[in-house]
Amino acid sequence: MSLSLRQQVLRKIPSVDEILSRPEIAELLKVHPRNVVVEAIRKGIGRLRQEILQKEEGPQSGDDLFSFEHLVPLFQKEIDLQIQPRLRRVINATGVIIHTNLGRAPLHPSAIQHLVEVSKTYSNLEYDIELGERGNRYAHVEEILCRLSGAESALVVNNNAGAVLLVINTLAEGKEVIVSRGELVEIGGAFRIPDVMRRSGALLREVGTTNRTHLNDYQKAIGPQTGLLLKVHTSNFRVMGFSSEVSLEDLVQLGKQHQLPVIDDLGSGCLIDLTLYGLEKEPTVQEMIKTGVDAITFSGDKLLGGPQAGIILGKKNSLDLFKINPLTRALRIDKLTLAALESTLLLYLDKKRAMEEIPTLLMLSLDTKRLKIRGRRLLKRLSKMENKRITCTLREDVSQVGGGALPLQELPTIVLTLKPLDFSLNTLELHLRKGDPPIISRISKEELILDMRTVFDEEIPILAQEIEKALTKIAKS
Ligand SMILES: *Cc1c(COP(=O)(O)O)cnc(C)c1O
Repeated sequence: MSLSLRQQVLRKIPSVDEILSRPEIAELLKVHPRNVVVEAIRKGIGRLRQEILQKEEGPQSGDDLFSFEHLVPLFQKEIDLQIQPRLRRVINATGVIIHTNLGRAPLHPSAIQHLVEVSKTYSNLEYDIELGERGNRYAHVEEILCRLSGAESALVVNNNAGAVLLVINTLAEGKEVIVSRGELVEIGGAFRIPDVMRRSGALLREVGTTNRTHLNDYQKAIGPQTGLLLKVHTSNFRVMGFSSEVSLEDLVQLGKQHQLPVIDDLGSGCLIDLTLYGLEKEPTVQEMIKTGVDAITFSGDKLLGGPQAGIILGKKNSLDLFKINPLTRALRIDKLTLAALESTLLLYLDKKRAMEEIPTLLMLSLDTKRLKIRGRRLLKRLSKMENKRITCTLREDVSQVGGGALPLQELPTIVLTLKPLDFSLNTLELHLRKGDPPIISRISKEELILDMRTVFDEEIPILAQEIEKALTKIAKS
């Protein structure tokens, strides 16, 4: 279509007011507020305009394009987009268990039930029922955290980044914090230890080298300016080969000699010894507390399997200082999170049950036998489909833990692969991603990969249905 012809067609687009006065629109106005309908018409027209400008060959006159038969469904779609929440569930078929972009840990049903119950009406969030007076928001989880970890005292804040900020600010504002060069990590999502340090008002004192840091590197750096010795879990990478780091035990001893607090940012923080399940060693929270460290911090929504939170555990005298820092008020945890966190922690009273029921831990421990059963269920549904424009196969692959935990752990998994016969992989990926619910998959070489590890059993029928829908749409386009 020539440019002038395009412009002719564009000029025929009716105005918003014209459209609003049409009887076909009256139906929409009966159901939806006027501002929503007006916005939908504006957006719908905008989209049409763009279509006309971009399409290779357009309609001759545009008349059929502007018929209300065509326009009303277009506006209805724009209305739906406005009134549906933007934050929505997706199906995670990437196999990455703790996927920060996909909301990290899915919650256990008891955590969900608890947060619904606590938020529907009033709660004893900051009320002591025994005494009938003002209570403490943090008290609800402190006892269980201490019991599970062996720590003297506990505090929970908004997230682990907040916990690290609070700890450094409290203990080392205006002073130096000694950190190994090999641990100056970036976690992703713009969390970089040196930046957090600066914001907390402390000065970074790097010691050692990228691959090797020794106890006497810390020792030599200690002076009147030192406020804190910090260890950071190199969550998402490992230095291999000629490398060495100072153990937390040794650092705690050094801290004691110089009367300096020692802190460990554990990142993921696991309460269960994963080696019992054939997984790589991830230091447990209990082991870290046993070293006598002043405080450790970790996330609530990584391996722990709870909601977003920053958990701080350690010695009472340090924790008391964190609790009175005004930053704690700014970083405070809300009641929905607190409810979900408390219920998740209660599951850990029975470690075996925790491993079997907390979604992140269960996914971590699923073997290929169980994953194969899941994969076969999906394959069976797909093989019943009419569409023969793709081939589906089940095969072995590896999934990642993600979330900065166990970066070297290879988890043998089962994936369902889809291979289009006469259209592109990207088209398939896009249609699945734009489905309802969206399906997040990964593309590898010549195939689209759906990892069975992170797909819930209940999602198998939905997955099959969405794949079928996507293929029907592709066939039509
Ligand atoms: C993930 C991580 C953080 C950040 O935790 P958030 O809960 O995302 O704020 C900080 N430090 C380490 C070592 C981590 O792995």
